[in-house]
Amino acid sequence: MVSFELFPPKTPEAEVKLLEEAIPGLLALKPAFMTCTYGAGGSTRTQTLEIVSRIRREFEIEAVSHLTCVGSSREDLARYLEAARAADINNIVALRGDPPRGDETFRPHPDGFKYADELVAFVKAAGGFDVAVAGYPEGHPECPDKHLDWRRCADKVAAGADVVITQLFYDNADFFGFRDHLRDKLHVTVPIVAGILPILSKQQIERFCGLCGSKIPPEVQVQLDKHADDHAACRRYGVELATRMCEDLIRNGVAGLHFYTLNRVASTAEVMRNLGLA
Ligand SMILES: Cc1cc2nc3c(=O)[nH]c(=O)nc-3n(C[C@H](O)[C@H](O)[C@H](O)COP(=O)(O)OP(=O)(O)OC[C@H]3O[C@@H](n4cnc5c(N)ncnc54)[C@H](O)[C@@H]3O)c2cc1C
Repeated sequence: MVSFELFPPKTPEAEVKLLEEAIPGLLALKPAFMTCTYGAGGSTRTQTLEIVSRIRREFEIEAVSHLTCVGSSREDLARYLEAARAADINNIVALRGDPPRGDETFRPHPDGFKYADELVAFVKAAGGFDVAVAGYPEGHPECPDKHLDWRRCADKVAAGADVVITQLFYDNADFFGFRDHLRDKLHVTVPIVAGILPILSKQQIERFCGLCGSKIPPEVQVQLDKHADDHAACRRYGVELATRMCEDLIRNGVAGLHFYTLNRVASTAEVMRNLGLA
């Protein structure tokens, strides 16, 4: 199973490009579904819903809305779910979310939720939604112990999550360690899907990994440094690395691949073709 992630475009021009070029290009690769992220602090709430609604209505494919607890009361969240339901969106990626820019720690809304497992239970109780949650092969950066974080991931499944989608990673051993621990030690039986981000440039990936706490393995760093000033060469390396990673993941029984497309087609399409999936 292959799925693609988009983010709400920041300008009207970017929105046109997304709807007229990126989504049709990605759809040609026949994903099972597409998801759209929910901006920090709920800043893209309306836009996220609009993008997933349009994907569902105009392209007739399963569209999944991300939803976070940041800045939202239970009533806000219930309203969002009702609007999603009305737009025939039946799948939610339920997240706690990151603190808004400038805040060090996550502060729950007084009438909202502190952790994603509470949101999962809330969405499931609303009825009619399948729910995905985030998983962290290297542990979530706020958690001092990855095994404790993995237990909390299992708690999200116990709260009703139907699938786990992982944070990006560049060492498959981290993914397998996470998946096998959840499956064998924590008895998690739902699919665990690998989050794949084909690297575009050294600057971009160093920033992303800095933000989300994923490590860049030394052999990958060597290649990034080598291609630091040559974006085309770095992108080609990103495609080659993602292809090799995905081949290994597939060989070892991964339940699915979720591509962080960054609203672009080229790298995802090349990896899919290399894998014989497009
Ligand atoms: C696939 C994927 C999609 C994402 N999409 C978005 C998006 O659209 N918008 C966005 O803003 N962010 C998104 N994120 C980022 C995510 O919001 C952040 O990583 C956030 O910091 C944690 O969210 P969570 O749902 O994993 O939180 P949680 O599962 O609640 O975990 C957050 C932290 O709290 C700890 N914790 C959990 N339960 C407990 C407990 N009971 N007691 C004590 N500690 C606990 C965990 O160990 C972890 O350190 C995404 C991440 C992934 C992997």
